[in-house]
Amino acid sequence: MADSITYRLFINGTWRLGGNGTDRALINPATEQEFGRVAVATAADLDDALISARNSLLSWSSTPAGERGALLVRAARILEGKIDVAAAALSQEQGKTLAEARGEYARAVETFDWNGKHAEELSAPLSLGAARMIVPEAAGVVAAFTPWNYPAVLNARKLAAALAAGCPVIMKAAEETPSAGVYIVEALQEAGVPAGVVSLVFGDPPMISGHLLGSPVVRVLTFTGSTPVGKHLATIAAENLQRCVLELGGHSPVIVFDDADLSKTVSAISEYKFECAGQSCNAPSRILVARPVYEAFLAKLVEAAANIRVGKPDDPATEMGPMANARRIEAMERLIKDAVDRGAKVETGGIRLDRPGYYWAPTILSNVPPDSQVLREEPFGPILTVAPFDTIDEAIEKANATEYGLAAYFFSDSPDVQRRMISGLSTGTVSVNYLKGVAADAPLGGINQSGYGYEGGVEGFRAFQNLKLVNATSAVAIG
Ligand code: NAD
Repeated sequence: MADSITYRLFINGTWRLGGNGTDRALINPATEQEFGRVAVATAADLDDALISARNSLLSWSSTPAGERGALLVRAARILEGKIDVAAAALSQEQGKTLAEARGEYARAVETFDWNGKHAEELSAPLSLGAARMIVPEAAGVVAAFTPWNYPAVLNARKLAAALAAGCPVIMKAAEETPSAGVYIVEALQEAGVPAGVVSLVFGDPPMISGHLLGSPVVRVLTFTGSTPVGKHLATIAAENLQRCVLELGGHSPVIVFDDADLSKTVSAISEYKFECAGQSCNAPSRILVARPVYEAFLAKLVEAAANIRVGKPDDPATEMGPMANARRIEAMERLIKDAVDRGAKVETGGIRLDRPGYYWAPTILSNVPPDSQVLREEPFGPILTVAPFDTIDEAIEKANATEYGLAAYFFSDSPDVQRRMISGLSTGTVSVNYLKGVAADAPLGGINQSGYGYEGGVEGFRAFQNLKLVNATSAVAIG
């Protein structure tokens, strides 16, 4: 392999291989071929990361917040200058199209900018009157765990807020998509973030999370991934009472009322849903349609899904690339077989495409029985189920009929419908007449089995701070 690459760990300001020299293969999902390796951390590597994070806590947290912010903004400019090469690496390892990868990096840059520019303001004391105040302080060393679906923006959301708040971070990025962590950490290093403040590790996920969360040095756990793994990590974190921010799975409904413009609604859903081959926690997965427009909507949606150009991620004509790994293909096969066995109809797709690579056809299922697995577990792939509803109460009940509570979307211009839907939907986010996901300036958080805590905006920043209440009888000096 002429262009094989090995991604390394970053610990205490130095790039290195894992202590015992082991690494693991990186597979291109568009070809199923190995294209590189990623280093595997040992317990000794993790101890080095813990020691360097602990040793840098005092100096980093007492660096003026404006200076920390300026370093992050500088890192944003450096990253911006590398978007083309970084996006190509991300597309190769993850399978998303080059355009999607570039868009994701643009959001990562925006995230560093937003947190960098707000570092000073959000670290300033908050007055509670003449003599009482709240003093925000860095919460301590952070252990961050990020997944493979949006590695650039999710690494950025965890790193930017924690670093801006004054916390050293040890990040375990997804082993299948290491390049985003490497490009981002390189940008931070080049910008001047001191040694020890950021560590990047890869390896055996349960070993790494067990080791890091087993240390009382770590004060905050931030994780994005599946609900079962999030629960497992929260259980480990309970031992050391580490604060948790858990961004877990979703099973998001879109409710289409009969006053919606069907063509625009179908375009909006199809564009958002099939980005990253549907492997997004916010992606819609269940469409509920007012019965009078159900047949017309379904016909348009099926046509849109069937016409999506599935192809190589680096082909500019491609609208949807392969799925990220073989596990997702197996999950699609299992979910569709289960639904069909129970009586669901495959309107389009439902099959793996007959070519090398993890390509799955955009799939629309109708007539899906409520006990089907695809309506109960996060599909995390290019599958949409479609069902009719008769009343707004029924729409709300069906929309809320999963254990998740991440995002919901609906289409209607009626003020009465809007009021009732916004208050009736049990989700962290509701979008009206369009589909919108993560933004740097706003909190994103799930409820129920989608997790707790917030990432993004002021609330996401505060996740990495302790708020010290200072009571006095007259004005006191701080800082
Ligand atoms: P998974 O649940 O095993 O892994 C999800 C992520 O968690 C991966 O990045 C993995 O490295 C990490 N992880 C797993 N076990 C861990 C542990 N003990 N400690 C620390 N990190 C750990 O499975 P998967 O096959 O990678 O993904 C399957 C499901 O995960 C998907 O169906 C989807 O529901 C969910 N997922 C959600 C998101 C999200 O954005 N919320 C992202 C990726 C995956």
